[in-house]
Amino acid sequence: MVEVKNIFCIGRNYANHALELGNAIPSSPILFSKPTHSLVKADGSEIRYPGGRGEIHHELEIVLHIAKDVPESFEVEDVVDQMALGIDFTLRDEQSKLKDKGHPWLKAKGFPNSAVITDFWAFPGVEGCKEVEFSLSKNGETVQLGNIRDMMFDFKQVIEHCNYYFGLKKGDIIYTGTPEGVGPIRHGDTLSLRWGQDEKGSFKVALD
Ligand code: ZN
Repeated sequence: MVEVKNIFCIGRNYANHALELGNAIPSSPILFSKPTHSLVKADGSEIRYPGGRGEIHHELEIVLHIAKDVPESFEVEDVVDQMALGIDFTLRDEQSKLKDKGHPWLKAKGFPNSAVITDFWAFPGVEGCKEVEFSLSKNGETVQLGNIRDMMFDFKQVIEHCNYYFGLKKGDIIYTGTPEGVGPIRHGDTLSLRWGQDEKGSFKVALD
């Protein structure tokens, strides 16, 4: 796996996903992060998740790998060298409670194995990404299908915001938001992440 420093994530970056959860559409990117211990490879084997903490939702996302320390002015292709697909797993019931209290989302977003990642591949550029649909299938049925044309904040804006607030450096990765179709996982589910027709990773869910 490529070296990963920090894991940054964007919330509600596809309008139809914000609406499916009854959330307002944000006027600037919602940013959060995950501990690096949350990272786990989708390599075909079983991945364990906490049972008994309410629903755990899958959020399929494009993940960008930052190749160098990001300057103030840049082109996406200059600072992103590789991409992957990932799942930002979310303890949805816990997140709702945290939101109600105005607390940070970390407990609902940062648990072990909450950041699934495929192998990285060479970034095809922003225009290249627009040509390809990314999708998640659960037990053989497509449950999420996205294209970056539907992002509210594009890769450039997402990188600019992360850089402004946190400073982005070589080795950081960004989960860039999920399209609609998020939903709960159950023990024994098989999830498969696809870039076009190309399966980039899969795994089986085990609930403790
Ligand atoms: Zn997400």
